[in-house]
Amino acid sequence: MVCSFCCVAETEGWLKSYCSDCAMLKRMLVLHEPKICIDILRRCLIRNENQISHKIKAELKNTSVKCEGDDSYLPPPTTRSKSK
Ligand SMILES: [Zn+2]
Repeated sequence: MVCSFCCVAETEGWLKSYCSDCAMLKRMLVLHEPKICIDILRRCLIRNENQISHKIKAELKNTSVKCEGDDSYLPPPTTRSKSK
């Protein structure tokens, strides 16, 4: 049977309705109050527009993509010798 929460994984058993991961999530929600868990997940997993654009800028900074006519491109350092 497929988990009734994530609809992806198999359930823990025939009489269970959740997979092992979702069953764990449910136990955590019960243990720590859903409100607190939602606040944590919102902070960690859900990003607003500002955070998304900030994240994209940071990612672009890290990737050295060569654009046409861009002389600022520096090839990544290599340990291989050029005289081959
Ligand atoms: Zn599941």
